[in-house]
Amino acid sequence: MTTPTQIAEDLATTFAERAAEHDVPAAFPRADVDDLRRSGLLGLLVPVEQGGMGGGFADYVAVAQLLARGAGSTALLFNMHASVTGSLAAVPEDLARSLGATDGFFAHREKVLTAAAQGAMYGVAITEREAGSRLSAMQTTYARNGDGYRVVGHKSVCSGAGHLDQYLVAARAAPEHGGTDDQPRVSHFLVPAGAGIEVADTWDPHGMRATASNSMTLDVCVPADALLGGVEGLAVILSHVMPQWLVASYAAVYVGVARAAVDEAARYLGERVVTGERGGLRQVGFVRSRVGRADADVEAARLVLEDAARRIDAAPGDPETNRAVYRAKLLAGDTAAAVAASMTETCGLGALRRGSTLERILRDARSGPLMPPSSDVAADVLGTAALGLDPFDGTDITPW
Ligand SMILES: Cc1cc2nc3c(=O)[nH]c(=O)nc-3n(C[C@H](O)[C@H](O)[C@H](O)COP(=O)(O)OP(=O)(O)OC[C@H]3O[C@@H](n4cnc5c(N)ncnc54)[C@H](O)[C@@H]3O)c2cc1C
Repeated sequence: MTTPTQIAEDLATTFAERAAEHDVPAAFPRADVDDLRRSGLLGLLVPVEQGGMGGGFADYVAVAQLLARGAGSTALLFNMHASVTGSLAAVPEDLARSLGATDGFFAHREKVLTAAAQGAMYGVAITEREAGSRLSAMQTTYARNGDGYRVVGHKSVCSGAGHLDQYLVAARAAPEHGGTDDQPRVSHFLVPAGAGIEVADTWDPHGMRATASNSMTLDVCVPADALLGGVEGLAVILSHVMPQWLVASYAAVYVGVARAAVDEAARYLGERVVTGERGGLRQVGFVRSRVGRADADVEAARLVLEDAARRIDAAPGDPETNRAVYRAKLLAGDTAAAVAASMTETCGLGALRRGSTLERILRDARSGPLMPPSSDVAADVLGTAALGLDPFDGTDITPW
């Protein structure tokens, strides 16, 4: 039987061949996503009983790194989808029921996960212009509407907006629904594509161009079952106690991007012949040292990431697991940006020419440190904990 990593390895080769044609016009990578839909990988984290592969966080990390070595943007779209399916699948039934989740929520969850195993793809719409990704500062609101909810607001960035089947939308309780600044009661809703979602073509960035991370305006009515976890006000609490799908999932993408930078530099240097250097640039000592340092840095980030993944599968929510989660994101983002910059310098102008593979990887890698939590925020969470303060309550900034 073909394993998820074998499928991902095959897909990554094809994605790499198409990456430039999606990057240049900042186009949604439709052909890659069609391949993902057909491959079964969208069901990687879906339980076997619902037709999926029953994978855990470590499986996600292995697959996402491979996809990112082919095309960072497509891997980032896969990451968003995995965050939705992974967090949905991981809600323990006992816990959810004890918090008040109904049979309707479990039936809806099964439907959403089964559809993913059959090729449905989901995105995440948290970020707002005024709030960034800080859940506690969301301005999008929800209120009761008949048996369900009405969600109204504007999201400034959502990878795959307009191309996916459903979106995980973060919103706060509207004042008429009892929300206040002190108690914003932030919740996640799964909103199907279609009426009530207007996407604007706003995405033309420096890197990760082929993610179609457009803005969207929402005024939608959803059934009660669309409330993630079946209980209001869980979003901020879960981001504190189980941050893996908000934090470490990005790390896998950027470790893959970092490894792609080293691979591509090695390929380029192997072919680059310069007069006077027998065997080309790879004979130059400091070139080899830079590649060696980059290789060691990427491997270190990978080991930290895979350690975090093992902890997430074994002890999700444990304080040590959560520190490992933030370490993985911090190191992955910083390593991707630093290694891609160093490899570019090593390879010279050939790597900076528009259209060269390393030039695209360099631009993609620069998004690593600023994806949530940004490197500064992740470092602050870790530093706060190391100084014996409460990372979520002990300082005047809040990561979420
Ligand atoms: C390629 C790409 C794809 C993306 N896809 C998605 C997506 O699918 N869905 C989605 O919801 N978002 C997405 N985002 C948006 C991403 O989550 C945001 O970039 C992020 O939320 C930060 O918002 P901002 O960049 O506007 O930074 P700002 O909010 O302007 O903040 C700038 C920096 O200041 C710091 N900062 C600001 N305020 C605070 C504070 N109160 N406490 C601590 N630090 C603070 C942060 O470090 C931040 O990096 C994507 C971004 C990129 C680059």
